[in-house]
Amino acid sequence: PQIIFSMPKAELHAHLNGSLSQTTIKKLMDLKTSHQCEDVFQLQTMFATLSEDHNKTLDECFQVFKVIHQLTDSEQSIYIATVDVIKEFSEENVLYLELRTTPRAIDGSFETYVNAVIRAIDDCRKENVPILVKLLLSIDRSKGFDTAKKIVDLTISLGHTRNDVVVGLDVSGNMADSDITDYFPLLFKIKDAGLKLTVHTAEVRNDAEAEAILRLKPDRIGHGTFISPSLTGSSHLIHLLKETNIPVELCLTSNKVCQTVPSFKDHHWKIFFDHGIPFSICVSNSNASARTVTAPILFDLK
Ligand code: 5GP
Repeated sequence: PQIIFSMPKAELHAHLNGSLSQTTIKKLMDLKTSHQCEDVFQLQTMFATLSEDHNKTLDECFQVFKVIHQLTDSEQSIYIATVDVIKEFSEENVLYLELRTTPRAIDGSFETYVNAVIRAIDDCRKENVPILVKLLLSIDRSKGFDTAKKIVDLTISLGHTRNDVVVGLDVSGNMADSDITDYFPLLFKIKDAGLKLTVHTAEVRNDAEAEAILRLKPDRIGHGTFISPSLTGSSHLIHLLKETNIPVELCLTSNKVCQTVPSFKDHHWKIFFDHGIPFSICVSNSNASARTVTAPILFDLK
């Protein structure tokens, strides 16, 4: 593990609010206490319950974010969270970090959220933290078209004014709650603007949706679990993936924690590897100390 820890790394799939360490969570809890927020006690109880059980279903993981989001609900807390996450990735020798986050309205404004994140990235750069950080804005597909449109417009605008930081858009959130094709006009806008696009794909089985996303040809896809013939019993999607040559962000620990794969041995990385699919090993959410365990597991399997 020490070798992996000290190896220079690129992290291409890290959700900001999925990457808060216990130290940061405590710091943000203390911030709430100092501001005498009424919900602190309730939040502490919720976090105590959350940390009791490590493995959760994907749906339960989405519920966890609803709790975490209560800690990053102000300009100050978002700034603190971003600085901490960047510095912690840097301490683990990540040299290139592509952070992604879903803007939420702070005092009615998505810009306030994103500006706090960008200010944190800029300040880390000024402090010479040895890491290059780029930002993807995420749309949460369970939140509807109008919210997604605001975030897409903001991404395109920042893609012009802050193209040194903002590189594109991620589509994430609960697959169960939405039809991805509703969002396609927005995703075409991102492509037309020359920005990068990555889409969470096939985390749960939906072959028609996975095919539609692959035919959209995003620059990368996240997870791609149910593209694997070992799970679907069909080679159709993996052949399509191979044809499109879209790189996949594989997030082993996250998939295991959310139980979308039963074990590391059953993970689809080996099947993708055997099919010559380009992929990157990523963390997705490191709240559960996932970062440092992903790579050694891969080495064991080889
Ligand atoms: P944030 O965007 O608030 O910084 O990070 C948390 C959000 O990322 C969650 O609310 C969810 O929308 C998205 N997210 C995190 N992990 C996953 C995942 O494994 N799958 C999907 N589809 N979305 C995720």
